[in-house]
Order: sequence, then structure tokens, then C-alpha cells
Amino acid sequence: ADSLKMDANIVVMGTESVGKSALTVRLLTRRFIGEYGDIESIYSHSFMVDERRTTLNIWDSPCSEDLSVETSLFEKKVQWADGFVLVYSICDRASFNSVSRLIQTIKSTKDYLNADKAPIVVVGNKRDLHHRRTVLSEEARLLALNTGCHFCEVSAAENYHSVLMMFHGLVGRIKGAKLTT
Ligand code: GDP
Repeated sequence: ADSLKMDANIVVMGTESVGKSALTVRLLTRRFIGEYGDIESIYSHSFMVDERRTTLNIWDSPCSEDLSVETSLFEKKVQWADGFVLVYSICDRASFNSVSRLIQTIKSTKDYLNADKAPIVVVGNKRDLHHRRTVLSEEARLLALNTGCHFCEVSAAENYHSVLMMFHGLVGRIKGAKLTT
């Protein structure tokens, strides 16, 4: 029953230290370790969503996406991916600005048929550091609304469930997304 299976390629992008590895490792191991090596890897992870076995191939890279935009590696990633996790830190305004640039670049490359429901999730990480917040939820929600992306705030450090729900939400979007190409 192929209809009961789904495979999806996901890339996790964002500037340095926003928690890309922390989110990926949290999903895979349920743990928050604190420090992560600089390893470029593709991880595989299977779970059930709506009674369907879903396998995610997650590309986590230590590089800052700001540096690699316009490079061939960046293009390769965008081509490879069915879905995107665009991470910023709620305490880092520059990382948020970078996410909005990433959305534009991805959407101009991918040409989504249903632009209102792009398989892209804008993720505000480090919600536990609310006392140092510089990016309001409302502005991130508005960015997502205006660009047809999904939005959520999570804490890789404190909340496994928020991370799991974020990936599940993206899987739902990928299922619904259709490419014109
Ligand atoms: P990456 O460069 O985007 O892959 O970021 P990392 O996953 O290596 O995380 C960068 C730093 O932020 C590390 O010191 C993590 O421990 C920390 N970090 C990641 N997620 C969170 C979070 O949700 N809350 C807090 N307080 N720290 C986090």
C-alpha cells in the first residue's frame, strides 16, 4: 500500500546558531544536548502521521545560509527539498530578516502551484528565552501569512512536543503541495 507511505526531503535553513542542529537532533533523539558539531549530514527519520508511515530525509548543514545563497550548494539543496524549515531565533533580529530573504529565493526557484500553502515553515526558535525576545510573534505570523508559509514558535531546548508538531505541520503542507514543474 504505497498510499500509506510517504517520503519527503526536508532542508533546515537559517543563519548560524539559531538552533538548526538542535531542532533536528531533538526530532531524531527527543533530546536536547546543548552543543552540536559542525557536520553536514542527511538524517533519516520515520514516524506515523495520520496512519501513514512517513520517512523524512533531513539535510542539516552547519553553514550560514546567508553565505551560501547564490552558490551551487544552496541551489542543489533547494532543488532536492520537498519542504523547508526556515529557522530564526526570537532573540536575533538579523536571523529573522534572513528568513524573509530565504522565502523569496525559494519561491522564485520552486514555482509552487498553490502559493498560499507553500511547504515552508517559518520557525521562531528559542521561545524559552522570551526575556531576550526581539522578534514579536505577530510580525513573524504576518510574514508567514503574506508569503503563504506556515508559522510556529518552538523551543528545541525545552519542548520536544513543539518541535514534533512543527515537523508534522510541515509534512501536512508537503502532502498538499503541488509543483507546476
Ligand atoms: P545551528 O548553528 O543553527 O545549527 O545552531 P545549534 O543547533 O548549534 O545551536 C546553537 C546554540 O543555541 C547552541 O548553544 C544551542 O544549545 C542553543 N540553542 C538551540 N536551540 C535552543 C533553544 O531552543 N533554546 C535555547 N535557550 N538555546 C538553544
